[in-house]
Amino acid sequence: MKAAILGATGLVGQRFVQLLNDHSWFEISALTGSDRSVGMEYGASVNWRMETQLKRSVAEITVQRTDPKGVDADIVFSALPAEQALAMEDAFATEGYAVVSNASAHRMDADVPLMNPEANFNHLSLIDEQRRKRKWDGVIVTNPNCTTAVLSLSLKPISDTFGIRNVVMSSMQAASGAGYPGVASLDIIDNVIPFIKDEEEKVQRETQKILGSPGKSAGFAVSASCHRVAVLDGHTEAVFVQTERAAHPEEVAKCMAEFTAEPQQLKLPSAPERPVIVRSEQDRPQPRFDRNEGHGMSVVVGRIRKDPVFDGVKYVAMGHNTIRGAAGCAILIAESMKSQGYI
Ligand code: NAP
Repeated sequence: MKAAILGATGLVGQRFVQLLNDHSWFEISALTGSDRSVGMEYGASVNWRMETQLKRSVAEITVQRTDPKGVDADIVFSALPAEQALAMEDAFATEGYAVVSNASAHRMDADVPLMNPEANFNHLSLIDEQRRKRKWDGVIVTNPNCTTAVLSLSLKPISDTFGIRNVVMSSMQAASGAGYPGVASLDIIDNVIPFIKDEEEKVQRETQKILGSPGKSAGFAVSASCHRVAVLDGHTEAVFVQTERAAHPEEVAKCMAEFTAEPQQLKLPSAPERPVIVRSEQDRPQPRFDRNEGHGMSVVVGRIRKDPVFDGVKYVAMGHNTIRGAAGCAILIAESMKSQGYI
């Protein structure tokens, strides 16, 4: 299938290009950008920040205007800033395109699936409702904010096994989460920035939407405190959970380590064998060593222990923010949609 990437020159756009390079189902057919890069070859317009070489065939693609006219694609991946995504993604869906978006613009719309596929595969059913309500042949499906992606995947096995009453999460988020060039080096080196605009609100409401049923948020409360740290990739999160039923740390470790869902059963190309990897060492997970587990699609959890305040459990979760938290998750959503005949 032909795949277009909107906002292909940004950090998430680059991650899409990298992950789609050797994808067995999708082939890059169009790349778009802002007026800054339209008309230039991709290789000349992008400041390539990925660890692998940019393929020559992709480097030679001319960057197009972000406009459905002239984009030849079966699936459209959006890595646009939220302000631009609102109107542009609507324009693509109106023209009949299937759009999988990283932007926050449509995440909380009641008829738009907000998906982390192992956590809420059944939310794909909202696509039929969206097409009926909006009277378009296209569709918009969104992936979660990067911090929410890590949190919701780690909470899913706990929610299924023990039920959840309350969640508190404190994050240590990578610099790449702010896009490129993002946070100035003079602000982040030797420093921790205790504020990321709108992040805490996103984590709180998106986690409830993902772990609820289609059209109905989960009933538990989420409190988040978000912080930017001098790490390149990989968000680390300290999570405290009050469960409905008593949960011993060993039981929590077991349900997390054994957890699989529809993407694993369907053997989707981007599905990691283990969505949640549990480490038993005292000093793991660490972003530098663990962020590429499951090709960046696994969340790595460690330090599962009793929480004396909640009489529940606490643990540390870590995941790759531009793979599980962005482009990788979006590609897994597209694979999920294709597997169910939505594209
Ligand atoms: P970024 O590095 O700032 O990239 C922004 C991209 O959007 C660039 O390709 C830019 O193209 C394009 N763009 C900007 N204005 C445009 C316009 N008016 N028309 C068309 N294209 C325009 O941002 P990013 O980190 O990749 O994030 C992209 C989206 O993903 C955002 O909505 C962000 O919130 C979300 N997200 C990011 C992460 C992360 O970890 N970074 C995780 C999850 C979600 P030019 O280069 O041509 O200007």
